[in-house]
Amino acid sequence: MPSEVYFKSVSDEASRNIALSKILERLPVFQKNSIVAIKITVGDENSRLHINPKLVAMVVEKVKSQSAKPFIFDTNVIYKGKRMNAVDHLNLAYEKGFSPKDIGAPFIIADGLSGLDGREFQVDYKHIKKVKIPSFVGVVDNLIVLSHITGHILSSYAGAIKNVGMGMSCRSGKQIQHSSVKPKIISKKCVMCGACINICPVNAISQKEEKAFIDSKVCVGCGECLCACLYDAVAVNWKEDIDVFCERMAEYAFVILSKFKNKFFINFAFDITKECDCIATANEPKICQDLGILASGDILAVEKATVDLLNKNEDIFLKAQKSNSYLGQLNYAGKISLGNLEYELIQL
Ligand code: SF4
Ligand code: SF4
Repeated sequence: MPSEVYFKSVSDEASRNIALSKILERLPVFQKNSIVAIKITVGDENSRLHINPKLVAMVVEKVKSQSAKPFIFDTNVIYKGKRMNAVDHLNLAYEKGFSPKDIGAPFIIADGLSGLDGREFQVDYKHIKKVKIPSFVGVVDNLIVLSHITGHILSSYAGAIKNVGMGMSCRSGKQIQHSSVKPKIISKKCVMCGACINICPVNAISQKEEKAFIDSKVCVGCGECLCACLYDAVAVNWKEDIDVFCERMAEYAFVILSKFKNKFFINFAFDITKECDCIATANEPKICQDLGILASGDILAVEKATVDLLNKNEDIFLKAQKSNSYLGQLNYAGKISLGNLEYELIQL
């Protein structure tokens, strides 16, 4: 039986609030006084097109109207920037309008000061044998995931599965998911500008015989050097490295979501940029027209509906990036029963 996916189109900025109000009419009813975790990302320092805090505040308000207790959360990232530790991350969030006063709920960095706090679980999947996730996962019953749809340097598409699989894991979990990604330098293209060396969070890149060189034993596969190189001199094996990366993310998402009773996923399919909010620059161009807001209790159904609607005429993510590995991720997610690939689109 197909899963229900709710959809409300948007035409301009003013219509976004109206669209979200309609979508929120379909929010599950949470038990009175129960805690509701709301996953967001505030984006990196320079990103401007992440989900507007006013939309997040609307979700908070709706949860409070049910007499439930919402909190907002994100986790620390594994690359350089202001989201590498909870202090800088929270200060950045507040600067961007995500303070508790602005959004009406506390904001926590769920994996602690530096991404080390969490619980480990043994699992037995094709790629993942152990996960490390924030300790509130398994304690709180209710989860709402707010995802800004964008392109992505590795998987080409970033939506709810990335927001959960990657965005809800501790630092070591993120590293495990990235561990199949092993970029190499194409020497003849490298002009030794040093950009990759400066951006690498673990100092895996050095200069060797006047070219950059990546020590694969040190590299954690974050993909930042791919983005930093303007000379196309950093390469990954899209077919092998990235396909495994996408499957690992789906496995992580499965484990995390299995620990919540009530789930609701809202995909914001507007202001869609080539790079995700972790990398996007202040003037990041949009890669397609705004679509609208989609939501479902089924993470896979909402992802499939989102990409189907966006790619109606052509694969916009493949056009903007180098691969469409995310399609393999969706199929793999179906195989491991992360959700349902079949959906019924309900226009609101
Ligand atoms: S960013 Fe590219 S061109 Fe510059 S040093 Fe690194 S690999 Fe070479
Ligand atoms: S070498 Fe590239 S992919 Fe590896 S950790 Fe450094 S920046 Fe990330």
